[in-house]
Amino acid sequence: MEIIAAKYIISSPSYDKCPKPDKPEYAFLGRSNVGKSSLINMLCNIHKLAKTSSTPGKTQLINHFEIISDDKQRWYLVDLPGYGFAKVSYKDRRSWEKMIQDYIRKRENLVTIFLLIDSRLSPQKSDIDFVNQLAEWKSPFALVFTKSDKITQRDSARNVNAFLNQLKETWEELPDHFVTSTVKKLGRKEILNYIKELNMLVKNNTAK
Ligand code: GDP
Repeated sequence: MEIIAAKYIISSPSYDKCPKPDKPEYAFLGRSNVGKSSLINMLCNIHKLAKTSSTPGKTQLINHFEIISDDKQRWYLVDLPGYGFAKVSYKDRRSWEKMIQDYIRKRENLVTIFLLIDSRLSPQKSDIDFVNQLAEWKSPFALVFTKSDKITQRDSARNVNAFLNQLKETWEELPDHFVTSTVKKLGRKEILNYIKELNMLVKNNTAK
């Protein structure tokens, strides 16, 4: 699948202010600086669609982009504000948690969340905790291990496996996962095809 057009629509402070839920929606989430904006720009092939490296914690908004892909589908790509940053206050952190929790649990057209994890790091507690939270909410998600070009393939594979092994301690079924690099354009085709297949599933389900 290729993206033909990507257009910024709106930034919303809460799930109930988001655009009408009339298209399948895919949200990207991760700790600040994990490479979320770079990944979104790589997927859409537009250099400055999502802003890279905005001040951690400053953008607490749900950003919607409308995508048209070459299979004639229209869908929403959502850039969610990052988590796990040290500089924000307790109050800001709580409001972030509430916004994200409401969005994830109540946004009815949300098909899947892509949770981004830095492939350079060994499993981080905040990431594992968040995965467990998503699983408890029964919210479909896939993992995206970013910046894989910054270390050797062997080291990134070790970190990915360590992360999945930790999840295995709690969960029987492991989530789908992707390894990406925006520098080497790795993982782009895989993620876009994954979205394409989910779009087809959604279409078939709503047609019934
Ligand atoms: P965000 O805060 O999660 O949106 O992160 P950004 O997309 O702004 O990326 C943070 C920094 O990591 C920037 O300097 C990017 O250029 C860099 N970066 C992001 N993805 C990659 C990648 O796949 N490879 C490399 N080498 N650098 C990356």
